[in-house]
Amino acid sequence: MEERDIMEVDVLFVGGGVASLSGALHLTNLINAHNEKVDKEGQGEKIDELMIAVLEKSSYLGAHALSGAVMDPSPLKELIPDFKEKGAPLDAEVTGEDVCLLTKNGMIKAPITPPPLNNHGNYIVSLSKLTEWLAGIVEESGVNIFPGFAATEVLYDGDRVIGVRTGDKGIDANGDKKGNFEPGIDLQGKVTVFGEGTRGSLTKTLIKKFNLDEGKNPDSYVVGVKEVWEIPEGSFKPGHVIHTMGYPLKSNTYGGGFVYGMNDTQIAVGLLTGLDYEDPYLDPHLMFQKFKMHPYIAKIFKDGKMVQYGAKTAPVGGYFSIPKLAFEGGVIIGDSANLFISQKIKGVHVAMKSGMLAAETIFEALLKNDFSEAQLSNYERALYASQIGKELYKVRNFHQAFEKGLWVALFKAGLQFILGGRILKNRLTTKPDYIHQKSVKEVYGTDSPTDEQKGLIKFDGQNTFDKETDVYYSGSTHEEQQPSHLKILDLDICYNKCLPEFQAPCQRFCPADVYDMSIDEETGKPSMKINFSNCLHCKTCDVKDPFANITWVPPEGGGGPKYTMM
Ligand code: SF4
Repeated sequence: MEERDIMEVDVLFVGGGVASLSGALHLTNLINAHNEKVDKEGQGEKIDELMIAVLEKSSYLGAHALSGAVMDPSPLKELIPDFKEKGAPLDAEVTGEDVCLLTKNGMIKAPITPPPLNNHGNYIVSLSKLTEWLAGIVEESGVNIFPGFAATEVLYDGDRVIGVRTGDKGIDANGDKKGNFEPGIDLQGKVTVFGEGTRGSLTKTLIKKFNLDEGKNPDSYVVGVKEVWEIPEGSFKPGHVIHTMGYPLKSNTYGGGFVYGMNDTQIAVGLLTGLDYEDPYLDPHLMFQKFKMHPYIAKIFKDGKMVQYGAKTAPVGGYFSIPKLAFEGGVIIGDSANLFISQKIKGVHVAMKSGMLAAETIFEALLKNDFSEAQLSNYERALYASQIGKELYKVRNFHQAFEKGLWVALFKAGLQFILGGRILKNRLTTKPDYIHQKSVKEVYGTDSPTDEQKGLIKFDGQNTFDKETDVYYSGSTHEEQQPSHLKILDLDICYNKCLPEFQAPCQRFCPADVYDMSIDEETGKPSMKINFSNCLHCKTCDVKDPFANITWVPPEGGGGPKYTMM
């Protein structure tokens, strides 16, 4: 048994995204306000100085944060009323918006902005910049932030969560200790808050252990592939927002594109692709490149230069896919809890607010010294009663309505808006994303579709890029001498089932060229190579493998993309 250091903390936030940071800051503010009140009134008991800790796998806060993003600032205003004076990195206030349907070469603009996509009063932000800025304020408030440490295991005392273990550092590709070996440490807290972001690897194990998804719809995700471009001043208005439906996605694929004017010379452009798609040859990165080639979009990039690339999944299953959020010793917040409003394409404000509501419950728990499930469930009740709970309920069937394709969905989305979320029946059920995948034969009528059928294009290196080039612009690096963090459970399934039926779709759905299946010319034997160093931590493979044969686990702390403007 490895000797491990144990660090005792009071409240432990796992994951350093905006959900955890907002929670940690709100909790600190609540405790300070309480203690000041006790001092002033001379009544009640003060809360002793606490150790609140935030654990983050990336090398600096914000390095793994990626979103569109147009942010509703309400929770930020509540948390930091003088956020502007404190220099919040808000790129631009939304000044105008277009919603368009793209055909292959044409475009139909909606005469009015559908109310859910009305972004008046919202801000275009880079989530990586916002996270880094918020982390600075959180640290100043006395919270301990530990970047570069990946939580790899949940610690239990019986059925009570008591903290997490961080991953060992200095293990080579064969699993042997290197000279710089450092065992992970055990961080133990009275309460552990899981804010790991989308498809949290520890959250998955908690959901399984405590049956937190019993009676719920399965998770569902989109993968967003995004670039930031520098463009000549005057080419695109700061604060302008474009949302598109249609091309290059077929009408049976959920998703859409966006272009956001960040400032005078920078834009964010991206495409979301629903991972419940059927076509094993669909490649979300390729779709994104095609989106940029559409004449209406391509003209925006003229004389521009791509400066950063990234990808991430976002949970779009909605209200009915939110797991139970509390258990003995812990709660789940943000994207890890599937808290995302897919109709509005927004998760940042929901994540922040969920962290703050969790903080309010933890504050009460500290006063009572009670960290039981019964006490921590107040967080779940508060969340459903809050404005975001109501927003989530109102559009509870939004994503499920797309299962029958775009046109049916647009009709249903309109009905849903009028009927407050109720379409024919109160709850539309759905299947996990990977179950939707069809075989190559089913989709193309042949096992050998042509390049034209697959819709392949040549990348010009100016406006469109291959995955390898794009990954370079994500800054992603990992210590090469470590075991792969992409765990293929059974390679036999890859070679003998997935290859003949689906032709190794991991090579397409991964936006970072991590999976490479080659066939030996002489023996005809397949072999899989995993270029894990490219990984963007987007989690698409964990969601979309047709046999659920890939599990994403955190690599050695500090590895992964180095976003600065995503
Ligand atoms: Fe995303 Fe998986 Fe590819 Fe990493 S390996 S970039 S998590 S799809």
